[in-house]
This record gives sequence, C-alpha cells and structure tokens, in this order.
Amino acid sequence: MSQTTQIPFVNLLAQYKSIQEEIDSAIHSVLESTAFVMGGEVKAFEEEFAHYCRARHCRGVGNGTDALVLALRALRIGPGDLVITPPNTFIATTEAITHVGARTIFVDIDPLTFHLDLDRLEEKVTSLRERGEPLKAIIAVHLFGQPCVWPALERLAAEHDLLLVEDAAQAHGGEWDERRVGSLGDIACFSFYPGKNLGAYGDGGAVVTNDDELAEKVGLLRNHGCAEKHVHEMEGVNSRLDSLQAAVLRVKLRHLEKWTENRIATARRYGERLADIESVVVPRRNDLARHVYHLYVIRTKARDALREHLQSQGVSTGIHYPIPLHLQPAYRYLGHQRGDFPAAEAAADEILSLPMDGEVTADQVDHVCDTVRDFVQ
Ligand SMILES: *Cc1c(COP(=O)(O)O)cnc(C)c1O
Repeated sequence: MSQTTQIPFVNLLAQYKSIQEEIDSAIHSVLESTAFVMGGEVKAFEEEFAHYCRARHCRGVGNGTDALVLALRALRIGPGDLVITPPNTFIATTEAITHVGARTIFVDIDPLTFHLDLDRLEEKVTSLRERGEPLKAIIAVHLFGQPCVWPALERLAAEHDLLLVEDAAQAHGGEWDERRVGSLGDIACFSFYPGKNLGAYGDGGAVVTNDDELAEKVGLLRNHGCAEKHVHEMEGVNSRLDSLQAAVLRVKLRHLEKWTENRIATARRYGERLADIESVVVPRRNDLARHVYHLYVIRTKARDALREHLQSQGVSTGIHYPIPLHLQPAYRYLGHQRGDFPAAEAAADEILSLPMDGEVTADQVDHVCDTVRDFVQ
C-alpha cells in the first residue's frame, strides 16, 4: 500500500454504497407513506431491535442522551439522588444525571478495561451507604464496545439495593457470557448517532428493558405523556425516533452482525500485528465478553507524537476522550481536581483510537500497524 493511502477513522460513505439500494428504497417508501412520526416503521424497528437485544421491549427516542434521561425518569431518579458513573465516558451520561436533578458521583476506572474499577466501586458504594446518602443507581458504560463485568455489578446492586442502568451507546450486539447488552440491567440506553455501531442518518436512540412498566413509562414520556390522542397521562417530552431513521435502522440492523464480525476480525488483526511493540498496549478483552469494538483503543506514552505521525501518513485517529469529565469546565461545581481519579487521567493522556468500522480491510489494518511500527523504531 502506498504512503499516500488515506485511511479514514470511520467510512460512512463506503457503508452507504454497500447498501445503497436497500436504503434508498426504504427511505422512498417512508416518503410515499407520509407516516413521518410514530409510524409503522418505528414500531417494526422497536420489535426487531428488542429481539436483537434478546429483551422484551424497545422504545425509540430522539437520541441516546434522551434515552438516558427518560430511563432515569422512568426509574424515578430525581432531585437529591446520587448516581455513580465513570469519569471517562461521553458527557451525555452525566448530563442525563444532572438533567433529572440527581448528582453524579465518579468512581475511577480499571486501566486495562477502561470500565469502573470494581474494588473502588464497592468501597464507594459501601461508604455512601454507611453515611446514609441517597445513592440510587449505577450507570455502567459498556465503553468502546466491551460489556462491563456484569455479575459483579449485579451482586453489588443486589446487596445495596441499587438500580443498574446500561449506557449501551457504544455496544450494540455486545454480550457478557452470551447475555446481550440491552438485556443485562434494569434498563439500557442506546444511541444511533451516525458513527455508532448501528447508526442512523441523523440522531436517534432507544431504551431497551425487560420490565413492562418501565417500557410503558418511557413510551409515554417520549411523546408528551400521551397514551391515546389528546389524553396526557403525565407531562413528558417530544423525543421520538423519526420514521425515516427507523426505516434506515431496520435496513442497517440486517447487516449489523456482518459489520460487527468485521470489527472483531479487525481488532484481532490489530492485536496480532501490534502485540510485540512494547511501547504500545493493545486493548484487553474479558474472556466472557463479546467486545464489539465500537472503538479500538491502544495506549502509549507518546500518544500525541504517534497520532501526528499517523496523520502525516494518511491515517486518521481519534481520542475518546482527551479530558475526563471531572476536569471539564462544566463540572467545576463538583469540586474535583487533577489527581482525584488518576487512572482515568492517565488514560486520557495515553489513549488513541485507531481506524475502526464495519468496512476496514486487512490491508488497511496492516498499513496502520506498519505506520505505528515505523514510528516506534
Ligand atoms: C454517543 C453516546 C451517548 C449519547 O448519544 P447521542 O445519541 O449522541 O445523544 C451517550 N453515552 C455514550 C457512552 C456515547 O458514546
């Protein structure tokens, strides 16, 4: 492969070209039907996506952030309540907590999996409980596509009477010991932002649960509390999944397993080709996890220089995320400082996301790895 090869971080155009006819015809039929809001496409997608998650219910919503907000509302988490989450997630997770009036409690991460550190989590839960604090829930983020160690979270939640919310925005199709993401917690929240593993052509999201009442509540909340026309059971919001997006998602859902398998194969190839480079740490997968590699995140001390080198050779990369939430200006009011969550801070300085999607080819992986090797040698 020549040095002028450009390798995009995510290639949405290549994906579209590979399914163009199906997509165009699905969009066309929504246009002809004029059922743009809450039509049959949304209902059909909800059934298909619930089935895909091996869960009973799915409710489409406007985006992944709203999925989190509405899930917390359905769980009756509100003013004064405390919710634990890691500091290295996307801000939507904590925005949702604040939005319902609750307060975010950060717990540091395990540097190998980037998930909540289970020992620190247990310590924090125990100490909050001992002080009688109103701790209600943990939002476990299946970050980068790797499902969290679920039995450990379930044990802790059962012991301390906590609700478990899955932030599954990066983990469509992930599994813990053959249990699918979306069916693990009390409720799960998905995003269909275009670059996610299952992405719409605009914003979209979903709440997935096995609980009949929670599903019904989210179904009401997303649509002005409306159970039947002109009857409002409660005040809700306007956060529905568009029919056009549902139609796109139905087409893409049929291809998702193939794309996921390509992500997994891509990750395996990266792992093999980078394994012997001492200054680069490849991501660690739990044996019982089906990691769906929303992102392939390596660690290296020379992250910024490596990133520049890759860019100069046409390889686009990303950083997810360069500033942990507890150090963001938006969370100054929480009173944290550098040093509070050292594992998350070190990760933010060292992580680099390599090109990853359903279309990456073996040649592209080899080019990326050769370029990394040029840099370290
Ligand atoms: C993308 C994402 C969200 C938010 O989803 P939107 O659809 O962009 O609102 C929430 N949490 C995580 C971890 C995400 O990656």
